[in-house]
Amino acid sequence: MDVLARRALALMVFAPLAGCHDDHKAAPGPEKSADDTDAIVLQLPQGLDEHLADFVPVVLEADLSSLNETERTVLDELIAASRPIERVFERQANRLNAAYRRALAAIPGPRGRTALRLFEIHAGVYERHRGFAAFVLGVPPRPKGGGFYPADLTREQWSAFLEQHPDREAELISLTTLVERRGDDLVGIPYSKAFRAELDKSIEHLHRAVRSSQNTSLCNYLAQLAEALATDRYQKAEIAWMDVDSPVELTLGPYEIYEDELFGYKASFEAFVTVVDRAASRHLEKLRALLPEMEDHLPIPDEHKNHARDASSPVRVAKLVFSAGEARAGIQTAAFNLPNDEMVRELKGSKKVLLTNLIDAKFAQTLVPIARDVLADEQAAELDAAAFRDHILLHEMSHGLGPGRIVRDGQTAEVREFLLETYPAIEEAKADLCGLWNLLYLTRRQIFTHAPRRIIATYLAGLFRSVRFGTGSAHGRAAAIEFNLLRDTGAIRIDPHDGRARYQGSRFEKALGEVTRHLLMIEATGDYAAAKRLIQTQGRTSKEMQNLISRLVDQPTDLRPIFPLAGESVREAQVAR
Ligand code: ZN
Repeated sequence: MDVLARRALALMVFAPLAGCHDDHKAAPGPEKSADDTDAIVLQLPQGLDEHLADFVPVVLEADLSSLNETERTVLDELIAASRPIERVFERQANRLNAAYRRALAAIPGPRGRTALRLFEIHAGVYERHRGFAAFVLGVPPRPKGGGFYPADLTREQWSAFLEQHPDREAELISLTTLVERRGDDLVGIPYSKAFRAELDKSIEHLHRAVRSSQNTSLCNYLAQLAEALATDRYQKAEIAWMDVDSPVELTLGPYEIYEDELFGYKASFEAFVTVVDRAASRHLEKLRALLPEMEDHLPIPDEHKNHARDASSPVRVAKLVFSAGEARAGIQTAAFNLPNDEMVRELKGSKKVLLTNLIDAKFAQTLVPIARDVLADEQAAELDAAAFRDHILLHEMSHGLGPGRIVRDGQTAEVREFLLETYPAIEEAKADLCGLWNLLYLTRRQIFTHAPRRIIATYLAGLFRSVRFGTGSAHGRAAAIEFNLLRDTGAIRIDPHDGRARYQGSRFEKALGEVTRHLLMIEATGDYAAAKRLIQTQGRTSKEMQNLISRLVDQPTDLRPIFPLAGESVREAQVAR
């Protein structure tokens, strides 16, 4: 998408912002920030339909026959409570998004509709899987810090300001503030104030769900969450979320920091509404007991193993029936492991949620076609849907394994605080590798019954799937790092004749151990310089990998979910078939 001209409209786009900070003070809210930017006119390049085809529409729903009337009412309220998160996240992603949305909505005809659809997919005008390249003409490059900071804030200005105002650091680096400029001053506006109008709507539906529901654990969480949205204090809600045991569940809050590529301080809002598959969840719960064993099996010296946070780690198998915010933008989250708060993790562990309807759709719609094009034929034939699902499960469990709080230069802090903006990609690569390492281990222990060759072939195809998310994303960058490191050891080879990738069975597991250790030790030592070096040297696609990826141009990169239980029309998905 480099062909897109990014003309000097930047000036016009940025100029009105100077006057809009005070609006925030008077009447904060996501809609307000763009009121002064009506002048934005967006032009569209040719070929937007091809961009839209990157995301194949897929209907996601669940069988509700096991739910009683009350539970269905609660489900509707949870969906309603999640809807406002869409606009909140749009504002977090970019200060100009409300104006961009209006500008696209004003373009008549099918091209305008396609552009608006793309905007909705990416929560903005920058394509997330293409390194945030703009799909419209004449906008400035995406600010590294999304909409969390003033768009023109530099690292130098930031450091200089913090040096002069050390007392302001907590407010400015908080996970849950937007940074605004007030003259020469920088201030942190709590999310509860910045997004009050939208969050109030969520709170109202949470209260309604509490009034309807008869499930104590769910009600406790929803009440705590309503409180947290109003106060920015999420710890009690996250603790309550860990204990939720209900056929319908909600996960809502500011969680991941991927959107903030400037510093990795700011959490994005997202929401998942799920219907739990209780039988399958109970089946997987037995894996919890094996977490200490998995930690022990990590290929690092014992002193770096972390047995502090294994207290509890529930697993949910669920069907996704609605998502919003970061969860719905760009590449779809197939599974998650929350909360991220290390204090809650040490107290309660973390909960993994697998979204099986989404995982199965990804396997069929993206992984199988990719393997056919890039893997050696005999390895492409080994692809296994269950191995794909279980690797995702163990990837998520692995976010809860390995170094958590560490000591470096006499300072104790979380790994992410030492690794800063390199952390998301390093942590994703770590989780992916540890997940594979433990899946192979548990298969030897006969906890799983997949053939190892099928696990590895599925994993290898998965690297190509993830790298297509763009090496600008944490997951895409992680996949490039994994592929490059494994190729350097000779565990993956590219066939010189047909250019296809093939793993080397005899070497693979030993090489996997070495590469996994490398990532874990960067975290164990909080080594920012090593993380940076690794990302610079290995975090991009090599020429040979690029050649393989170029075979996939006609394959969809990911899915665009359509949620009929939230009233969304399934017509598009039927047309696309
Ligand atoms: Zn992950």
